[in-house]
Amino acid sequence: MSKLKELEERIKKDGRVLGEDVLKVDSFLTHQVDPELMAAMGQRFAEVFADAGITKVVSIEASGIAPAVFAAYALHVPMVFARKSKSITMADELITADVFSFTKQVTNHVSVSKKFLTSADTVLVVDDFLANGQAGGGLIDIVEQAGATIAGLGIVIEKTFQPGRQLIEERGIKVVSLARIAAFVDGEVKFAEADA
Ligand code: 5GP
Repeated sequence: MSKLKELEERIKKDGRVLGEDVLKVDSFLTHQVDPELMAAMGQRFAEVFADAGITKVVSIEASGIAPAVFAAYALHVPMVFARKSKSITMADELITADVFSFTKQVTNHVSVSKKFLTSADTVLVVDDFLANGQAGGGLIDIVEQAGATIAGLGIVIEKTFQPGRQLIEERGIKVVSLARIAAFVDGEVKFAEADA
């Protein structure tokens, strides 16, 4: 059971299972955003990583940004998100990684400006979902390329029946998920024990 009961309750109330393995949570996380729930989640990430010496939270656009900014706010550090398309204003040197999108089934070339991530940073990576570990893994690649230290990967909703956690943990990185889904059974969400 999640220690953040509100999140599981919200998933049960408003989450919709699509097909075999996708959860739609666009009424509070991925499209419309519930700031009170995000603030509670940000606070929880901050408590778990309070002693990790975090200097930056790193995420990926678009739906990682909301939970990441609240985690950063609670930790009193900046949040940087990897961008999917290169803007003409991004003239700086970039650190990049390829990320295959689970929901859009395309590979995005994502980047962060070198000036916002350096070897002096200790980073908490935050994303909305952990499925096959592509988004989290790509962000970790970027942090490693910057020479920064990774404190962990903070996830709002993990699907434990997909291999993401194992891939990330095999790299020696701590994964903290606020809700963990064990299975979808007849369109209903079955939870596993959350990390925090
Ligand atoms: P992964 O890269 O771990 O395979 O998948 C994580 C990314 O795909 C997240 O950034 C998230 O945007 C998207 N994603 C994966 N699974 C789901 C899902 O069940 N529902 C939604 N809304 N997004 C998902």
